[in-house]
Amino acid sequence: MSEIPADLVLFGGVVRTLDGEKTASAIAARKGRIVRVGSDAEVKALATDRSQVIDLAGRTVVPGLIDSHMHLFGLGRMSQEVDLVGTKSVKEIQERVAKAVKESSGSWIQGRGWDQNDWEGAKAFPSARDLDAVSLDRPIVLRRIDGHAIWVNGAALKAAGVTAKTPDPAGGKIVRERGEPTGIFIDNAMNLVEAKLPQPTIEELEKQALAGERACLEAGLVAVHDMGLGRAELEALRRLDDAGRLHLRVYAMVDGGAEDLAALFGDGPRIPKDETSRLTIRGVKFFMDGALGSRGAALLAPYADDPKNSGLVLMELGEYESRVRLAKERGFQVSTHAIGDRANRSTLDVYERVFGSELRAARPRVEHAQVVSLEDLPRFSKLGVIASMQPTHATSDMPWAEKRVGPERIKGAYAWKTLLSSGATIASGSDAPVESISPILGLYAAMTRQEPTEKPAPPWRGDERMTPLEALQSFTGAGAFASFREGEAGVLKEGFVADMTVLDRDPLAIDPHALLDAKVELTIVGGSIAFSKN
Ligand SMILES: [Zn+2]
Repeated sequence: MSEIPADLVLFGGVVRTLDGEKTASAIAARKGRIVRVGSDAEVKALATDRSQVIDLAGRTVVPGLIDSHMHLFGLGRMSQEVDLVGTKSVKEIQERVAKAVKESSGSWIQGRGWDQNDWEGAKAFPSARDLDAVSLDRPIVLRRIDGHAIWVNGAALKAAGVTAKTPDPAGGKIVRERGEPTGIFIDNAMNLVEAKLPQPTIEELEKQALAGERACLEAGLVAVHDMGLGRAELEALRRLDDAGRLHLRVYAMVDGGAEDLAALFGDGPRIPKDETSRLTIRGVKFFMDGALGSRGAALLAPYADDPKNSGLVLMELGEYESRVRLAKERGFQVSTHAIGDRANRSTLDVYERVFGSELRAARPRVEHAQVVSLEDLPRFSKLGVIASMQPTHATSDMPWAEKRVGPERIKGAYAWKTLLSSGATIASGSDAPVESISPILGLYAAMTRQEPTEKPAPPWRGDERMTPLEALQSFTGAGAFASFREGEAGVLKEGFVADMTVLDRDPLAIDPHALLDAKVELTIVGGSIAFSKN
């Protein structure tokens, strides 16, 4: 038998192929594709002087991890913004922002990650006055952890020209006290301020994308589904990919709310033309509602803890439907952010109407699918709609989610096992930078429904946990399927892309709690080492 030499040979470990039950100890790649999965002897036989040969020394290879919902530019931008994740009080936030005011030179101060639910004492929204205490003249904009609310100071209100007379825009809310804006803007109202932010240049956007890419590769990801991109961001990605500067595979979804959506679709999807190309532009993402944390998720009945409020539908349904039709005609995969049960139902209804008998083949997705009516849960499987879910959202929301929706509706919330058992596909992601980009934390949350502290015990609605195999598939094969790549990615087998993540332990053979200490050792994309811990 004549043997084809390999560029890359990994041996002496555990190779979890996820191709059925098949496990091997070695794997080899050539020109970006897997050429052999087998025993050490079989695979080492393909090595030549020029091959890169790596002794795994017992470490574990899994199919390259895929994050099916994240924001690459937001992740990259984080390094330039004030990090407020985990802050426990207004005072702590004031201190961090004050430091940034002192150390930065730009006009605006931006931060993200606050969550009033985490604060000691009253969990009410803060106000502009709290930030005026930090700076009266530099505009300050702080995004809430879920990205669905901003908190600004008086200088930002002034720069945006927002006064008591400014009306609430459709699908948005300016929080007011005795008629005056308090400094909190929800959902579509955020644009009133954000439109005034200085626009980054294309070079700055490229830098953000590469900073985001670095964080992804370090976290063990080989591919991401990047949600809701505008014209400038798409251009930055195209430039990077054309110049061969992207290492991470990026499956881009354009911003469905863009005024010039038809122009964003351009001449149709962009599909990688060769082994070195990393960028696919083939999806569109719409917003149906807001988030549960800021009570912007659209519910069929009012919030249990806010009886006059049922949340916000962000898009006029007729307009939404015509945009979904346009996407279908242009050959773009449709995805829709839907968190509340009402938003989920409307989305599924529109998908049925627009796609009819072609629905399953079109693989439309619901992003988040967080609170779904028990009647609607089986529709995901029945229709072939992909549930794109974020395990760490459940563990972040579990302390207060039931207060928002009550004991009945919570049964259809973050219902992973129910969906999987019905035959639905769950593609897991992080929604970074809303949550940490780490797929290890995602796998942990999916398997345990506990915080890293192992609380609560027993786990929160533990029947809805995924098994370790289901969790790993949701971060590999399901992500490949959700981006039409199951014929070449998501499992380790001959002919498939050589995308692999090497971990210091086997996620399928350990107590899920031991996953928290797992280290990503190597991230391999298309047979090239894109990240190495050492
Ligand atoms: Zn998102």
